[in-house]
Amino acid sequence: MAKPVCYSTKAFAAASATAPLAATTIERRQPTPTDVRIQIQYCGVCHSDLHFARNEWHFTQYPAVPGHEIVGKVTAVGGGVKKFKVGDTVGVGCLVDSCRTCPSCRAGFEQFCDAGMQGGTYGGTDKYFGTPTLGGYSQSIVVTEDFVLRMPANLNPAAAAPLLCAGITTYSPLKHWKVGPGQKVGIVGLGGLGHMGVKFARAFGAHVVLFTTSPSKVADGKRLGAHEVVVSTDAAQMAAQAGSFDFILDAVSAQHDLNAYFNLLKRDGNLTLVGAPAEPLPVAAFPLIMRRRSFSGSFIGGLPETQEMLDFCGQHGITCDIEMIRMDQINAAYERMLKSDVKYRFVIDMASLK
Ligand code: NAP
Ligand code: ZN
Ligand code: ZN
Repeated sequence: MAKPVCYSTKAFAAASATAPLAATTIERRQPTPTDVRIQIQYCGVCHSDLHFARNEWHFTQYPAVPGHEIVGKVTAVGGGVKKFKVGDTVGVGCLVDSCRTCPSCRAGFEQFCDAGMQGGTYGGTDKYFGTPTLGGYSQSIVVTEDFVLRMPANLNPAAAAPLLCAGITTYSPLKHWKVGPGQKVGIVGLGGLGHMGVKFARAFGAHVVLFTTSPSKVADGKRLGAHEVVVSTDAAQMAAQAGSFDFILDAVSAQHDLNAYFNLLKRDGNLTLVGAPAEPLPVAAFPLIMRRRSFSGSFIGGLPETQEMLDFCGQHGITCDIEMIRMDQINAAYERMLKSDVKYRFVIDMASLK
């Protein structure tokens, strides 16, 4: 494959697992005929960015540029681009490409591509240069139009940015497990993912119960849409919920006891894990086998479902609750995220990267 010409753009990168993120300059390709160049306005801060920057999943290559909740304006398009024009407000999520030929890709489940995460927005492999892909903590990005999303015009672009990961990661499993009216649904962890899980489960008509380790988040949980909020460190509050849930979505970023949540499911209930803690989570047999309960996982979402989710948010006026930060506040933001102290997603104002 012919190598495109490159240009330089400013970014924030981690040089090692222990180094704070710092300003740098990276190279991106000039748009090929099917590419769109995007001036990044906002980039959400996902807990995955922190796991990745610190090599907690053991596959990070450095320098690492995180960021996969990207919203910006199209500033150039290749000659063959059909869907977008200069000036459009667009989004880019966790994927910038995939093999496009495996059964999952053909079915629109690019997140489950047989080539793995080669097409990841960061930590993937650039198909032109063979180098690691670099994410959205940068001034601009170039992406094939097939992996660029239309942003609903009525949504605040900064508050919509985290829909590109936190939004689709919670929307997809709630849809897959057909969450809706008449069901009791639990959301575990009120962070970036969890607060969107609460909003979507409520929008889909379920009875929503939020589980949080933070008593200070009870009022916010209700404001965001939960009918009930359970402080999960309170054994009596947990016991009162035993055997009552159709579905539980677990969005916790660290070690915790899954078995306590299996016990809250009804017969044939399901717990789906979207949280991605670095360490294994022990699963006891009895909480699962006794009521034919099931345990599954879910991973972001494919391009068609991500567009569907964005359009749903446009129709229902759903966005994320965000705290805007400057690019140079990212290391402090990571420390706050580790303390579960974010309401409920940091978003970087990329104009601050000068
Ligand atoms: P986040 O904003 O940091 O939220 C995580 C929440 O988990 C915290 O706010 C806290 O909620 C709870 N929590 C943290 N430590 C805990 C502990 N030790 N025990 C119990 N609860 C704890 O993170 P996020 O961005 O939402 O991401 C959550 C996880 O999902 C991360 O591991 C991330 O990598 C992963 N993720 C997965 C996918 C996927 O496709 N599956 C996509 C994106 C992210 P409370 O204060 O309410 O307890
Ligand atoms: Zn993410
Ligand atoms: Zn594929």
